[in-house]
Amino acid sequence: MALIRISELTKHFVNGADCVSALHGLDLAIEEGTFLGVMGPSGSGKSTLLGLLGGLTRPSAGKVEIDGIDLYRLSNEKRADFRREYLGFVFQSHNLVPYLTALENVMLPLAVSRLKDAEKKRFAAEVLERVGLKDRLLHLPQQLSGGEQERVAIARALVNKPPLILADEPTGSLDSATSRQVMELFSELHREGQTIVMVTHNRDNLDWFDRTIFLRDGQIVEEINQRPETPAR
Ligand code: ADP
Ligand code: ADP
Repeated sequence: MALIRISELTKHFVNGADCVSALHGLDLAIEEGTFLGVMGPSGSGKSTLLGLLGGLTRPSAGKVEIDGIDLYRLSNEKRADFRREYLGFVFQSHNLVPYLTALENVMLPLAVSRLKDAEKKRFAAEVLERVGLKDRLLHLPQQLSGGEQERVAIARALVNKPPLILADEPTGSLDSATSRQVMELFSELHREGQTIVMVTHNRDNLDWFDRTIFLRDGQIVEEINQRPETPAR
């Protein structure tokens, strides 16, 4: 079964008398375990699509179903719960809280859980170890390299074990060697079965994906299936 099903998804933004159509009539089904790349020029609708998948902005028309749940039929409160349970967000590294340690940053998504503090720490430390930062638990973001900061951001997205990871330009501010390490980490997660949707400008990332969609003016204009041998489920 498709984990994500998008149908006739449309989003307009109204600015005074102007109406910008950011996405129109998008249809897409994404199987569980897919590593999907979303590419396209600036302004083509990539961030809007990610925001709609992430429950951050309401569609003008159409729907987004994740695991059979119609995201925008949920109340705002239920949708917030859904996001915590189902989604991990990875943005460019500047998204870390500067005065919190790596460990504390990764513990943030657990703040509302009923776990004891010691358990939160243990889970956060485990996932930081998983991304290769066992020796950096008590470092502040400014004491970490760009690649390490990005890995902290990935650890934070993973700590709740969400079925779906949404990543917006996670390698956007990294040099090519560091980008490669970050993509290797995503690829490992993917091999373990993680479903990932990644927006990127970087064509070098293309080879890592199972499937890539190209947006232009709010529509899918091209699609590449890098793993055509993968049986459809
Ligand atoms: P991308 O991520 O591919 O650069 P976006 O999804 O950010 O594209 O934007 C798609 C289109 O929607 C652009 O024309 C952009 O200017 C417009 N847009 C995006 N967000 C808003 C907003 N909050 N208000 C008005 N227009 C917006
Ligand atoms: P990117 O291309 O890096 O995704 P954008 O410039 O498309 O970044 O968008 C950055 C932010 O600005 C987003 O939150 C988007 O919703 C908002 N935005 C984009 N275009 C507009 C616009 N025309 N009016 C208002 N907000 C916008």
